Formats: sequence, structure tokens, C-alpha cells
Amino acid sequence: MNATPSSPPGIAPLDVERIRRDFPLLKRQVNGHRLVYLDSAATTQRPSVVIDAVRDFYEQHNANVHRGVHQLSQEATAIFEATREKARAFVNAPEVAEMIYVRGTTEAINLVAQSWARPRLKPGDEILVTTMEHHSNIVPWQLVAEQTGAVVRPIAIDDDGTLDLDDLDARLSERTRVVAVGHVSNSLGTVNPIAHIAKRARSVGAITVVDGAQAAPHYPIDVQALGCDFYAFSGHKVFGPTGVGFLWGRREWLDAMPPWMGGGDMINSVSFQGSTWAPLPSKFEAGTPNVGGAAGLGAAFDYVSGLGLDRIAQHDHELLQYGTARLLEVDGLRLIGTSPKKTGILSFVLAGIHPHDIGTIVDRDGVAIRTGHHCAQPVMERFGVPATVRASLTIHNDRADIDRLVESLEGVRRMFG
Ligand code: PMP
Repeated sequence: MNATPSSPPGIAPLDVERIRRDFPLLKRQVNGHRLVYLDSAATTQRPSVVIDAVRDFYEQHNANVHRGVHQLSQEATAIFEATREKARAFVNAPEVAEMIYVRGTTEAINLVAQSWARPRLKPGDEILVTTMEHHSNIVPWQLVAEQTGAVVRPIAIDDDGTLDLDDLDARLSERTRVVAVGHVSNSLGTVNPIAHIAKRARSVGAITVVDGAQAAPHYPIDVQALGCDFYAFSGHKVFGPTGVGFLWGRREWLDAMPPWMGGGDMINSVSFQGSTWAPLPSKFEAGTPNVGGAAGLGAAFDYVSGLGLDRIAQHDHELLQYGTARLLEVDGLRLIGTSPKKTGILSFVLAGIHPHDIGTIVDRDGVAIRTGHHCAQPVMERFGVPATVRASLTIHNDRADIDRLVESLEGVRRMFG
């Protein structure tokens, strides 16, 4: 099966066969089988254009950025800044100076916690997070709560993994300073209604911090339409390199925030009488950044935009529907996360079989899936399971990949009787 069938008129289906050829690693055999990679939520594979851009950077342009007058430094700076502009366009931020280079989502959220929240929070203030958050959108808030006397409170989720918006409303008060929420849950696939949440948060004077790690590769993102205050995402989830990502923040906040890390490139002047800070975005970018990574990420943005995010979202949706139906044919399989608003993540358990055993056995068939708590232990607790099996879907997956997973799961079932 090459393409997603039955796309609505106007949205051309992705040519999966062609896309697969863009990814050198997908040509690999694993344990004697064609690799079926269903772990893109952990990290995506990289297309040749990204790998080539990184190689080209090191072979032709490598230099430190912003500091040199020589040709190579100017070229490296141009590549680095061009990716910042592509990131701005990717999330439709109003200003390129609001796009802060970070290592990834984790660093971005820690930056907001330490630089926005730490100077502002007082004992008794509240930070709301959802029960479905990844640990990287829980623990940074717990750290800042310890530092300030603020309290972290979870917003409940329904049995299908949908955020309980009544519980959000019940918990919002004049004490709420921050609402931290994932755009898409990495363990359930739930898509959260960010625009609604941001509006409700604003009504009590709280900011909304969005973990976009799982949304970025699946949806067109428009931070202005979402109405949030900060949006974080990682390059390696959008087919770019590891160690590079972005934090978008509203200028009014970023201007008012102190630097988080000190060092080279983030100052205006330094003396022993005191130092002054560079304007945005440099104020938050101390030290030598991942310039080679930025070169690759620029190519990744081009690649994703070339395919079209609306087509990607459509592909995702259709494959999710197919995958859901096929998995439910497996005897004893329980899906964890069945919200009507979902993207390409299939989390499940099989009665009587530990997820790690399933992961190990299907790996023998060349199918790469993830098992464990997915850095979302409160979700596991909510659903009363220690771990799940997670298959995550992306542009190079098709129905044949799902069929291979289901076939392998049937084998697991037979093995365990
Ligand atoms: N949030 C979510 C929802 C994620 O899936 C991940 C990655 N698993 C992260 C945050 C952390 O991203 P990173 O490790 O790239 O900082």
C-alpha cells in the first residue's frame, strides 16, 4: 500500500513509498526483516536531506557563529539564523527574535520555569499541569515549586484520556500562575484544546506553557491562534538532529525575564561593576550553540513543509483509524488512550503479557516499538498499568507496517497461549 487511500478531495495523499526512500536507515534489515519503525514519538529517523545538510555544514562552512568576521563564520551565522527564521514560520510566531535556540523541549520548559516562574512565584501560588504530561513538563515545575513555595496540582483526565475541562475550571483560581500542558500526549496521543485552555488560563491571569514535542511533527502550529505564552519543541521529533530545538515566547515576557544561563554571546557588556544583557534572542543563548544541528534542522523544516503539514495530519489521521481497528482485532488487547481527538499514537496492553516481553518479541520480527512508562508515570498510575506498548506513526508508515505489527502481536499471543 503506497499511499493513504480515501483522502478527502483537495488533500493529496502522501506517497509513502517515495518518502520511505528518503530515509536511508529505513533500507536496513533488522533481524532478517525489513525494518518497521514505529517509534517516531521517541525520536524520528532522518531523511537524507537532513544528513546531507549536517555533512555539508561540517565540510564547507564549519565555524563558530556571531563572533567572527571571517567568511566561514559569516556563512555559519547565516545558516544558523536562516533556521531560526524557518522555525518562526513553522510555528507562525510574530517575530524571529522570539525564537530561542535550546537543546530541546526539556531545556525550553526548564528555562521558562527558572526564568519566568522562579522570580515571580510566591508561597501558595499554583501551577496546574495535566495528568497526561511527560515528566519534562512536570518535574521542572516541581523544582520551581520547591524553590518558591508554590504548589503543583494535576488536572484530571477522563477514562478515554481526554482532558477533563470541568476539572480545569474547578482548579483555576486567582492563585493559578501557570498552566503547563502538552499539545499532544506522548503516551495517549490525546490532542489538547490549547486555545481553549489558554483563554481560560488568561481569564485568571495565568500564563500557558505548551509542550509541543509531539505536536510539531503532526500538525500545522500557529502560536498566535493558540494564544499561549510559551511553546516548546525538539528538532529530533521533526526529522532534525538531536540537541537542537526551540522555545517560542511572547516578547513582553522574554524581555522582562532575566537570563537563565550566563556566558559568552548573551551579554551586552561585562565588567566587575556589573554586566548587561544582549537583546533577544541572544540573552537566552549563552555559549556555543549546536550550529551543525541547526543546519540539519533547517533542512528538516524544508522537508516537512515540502510535504505539507495538512497532508501529514491527514495521513496520520487515516493511519490511526486503520491501526486502531486492526489492533482491536488482537485478542485481549486494550487500548490506553481512545480520545476522539487523537493523533498517531497507539498505546496498549495485552492481557497477561508484560509490555517488555512484547517489545522484545516483536523486535525479532523487525518491528521497532517502545515499551515502558514513556516518561509519563502519572498516566500509567491513572490507567492502573505499570507500562504500555506504544506504536507511533509518521509519514513513512503505512498500512503494511500496521499489518506487520498486528501479525507479530498475533505471534506473541500464540507464544503465551
Ligand atoms: N514532551 C513530550 C510530550 C515528549 O514526548 C518528549 C520526548 N519524549 C519530551 C517532552 C522531551 O523532549 P526532549 O527529550 O527532546 O527534550
